[in-house]
Amino acid sequence: MNNHTHLLGAHLSVSGGFFNAIENGSKIGCTAIQIFTKSNRQWASKKISQSEAELFIKTKRNSPIKMVIAHASYLINLGSSTVGVQERSYHALVDEINRCHELEIPYLVLHPGTSEKDSQEATLELIGDYIDKSLKETPGSLTTVLIETMAGQGRSIGHTFEQIAKIISRIEDKNRIGVCFDTCHTFAAGYDFTSAEKYEKTFAHFDATIGLKFLKAFHINDSKKELNSHVDRHENIGDGLINIQAFMMIVNDARFLNVPKILETPHSEDLENDKRNLEKLASLLK
Ligand SMILES: [Zn+2]
Ligand SMILES: [Zn+2]
Repeated sequence: MNNHTHLLGAHLSVSGGFFNAIENGSKIGCTAIQIFTKSNRQWASKKISQSEAELFIKTKRNSPIKMVIAHASYLINLGSSTVGVQERSYHALVDEINRCHELEIPYLVLHPGTSEKDSQEATLELIGDYIDKSLKETPGSLTTVLIETMAGQGRSIGHTFEQIAKIISRIEDKNRIGVCFDTCHTFAAGYDFTSAEKYEKTFAHFDATIGLKFLKAFHINDSKKELNSHVDRHENIGDGLINIQAFMMIVNDARFLNVPKILETPHSEDLENDKRNLEKLASLLK
């Protein structure tokens, strides 16, 4: 391993306070973490007090954690066919961007959405326009929204690079939009990156459609389900159907050296499972 600081870590709980995620992440050897800034299954959020934000920022500054990213609530669906849900999702997204800004979190990962009945094209435009509007609503914020690559389960959108490129094309400020590449989702969506040749082909395709400069984060998860299954089931690194070579190529790819790589593998209360997965990932560094 060279002395470059790789940004590796896991999604961690903020129960007990935002700063707790930093402390727990430091304990298990993370240099990057992901958190929810509010309950991921509720619309309502509790205001972040100034002292909470200060404690979080100070704890982070004095820790080995060099990057924190946030994941938006699972309830947000900007692509819904119901106007009420669209509007609620839009306001929730603005709220989450503001929360990230208060906590000095540069990236907010968002599931693009699901359309109940509209055409895919119209849904992609709708999602892009709502993200664009939310960025314009938060002009002073330094937080960038990252669209997550999806598995394509049901009518969920964002499982092809072309779809993500279409969403990005609707957004005016390209400095505040990016992509989070989830290895489990992308594999289940049908993109193979398990051999050197397939890996190069997949990332060349990403570059040609979206542009590699938009790739700002990875979710590193193995997959319980096979290539092109369109089923999203995370697995521990090495126990699923994506091979170790694929993870080795990602963590050592010079193009992604400064891109945070976050595990979302099965979680245990004592953090042992996160620790094990992180050690496995770190062991792949050359
Ligand atoms: Zn996600
Ligand atoms: Zn993910």
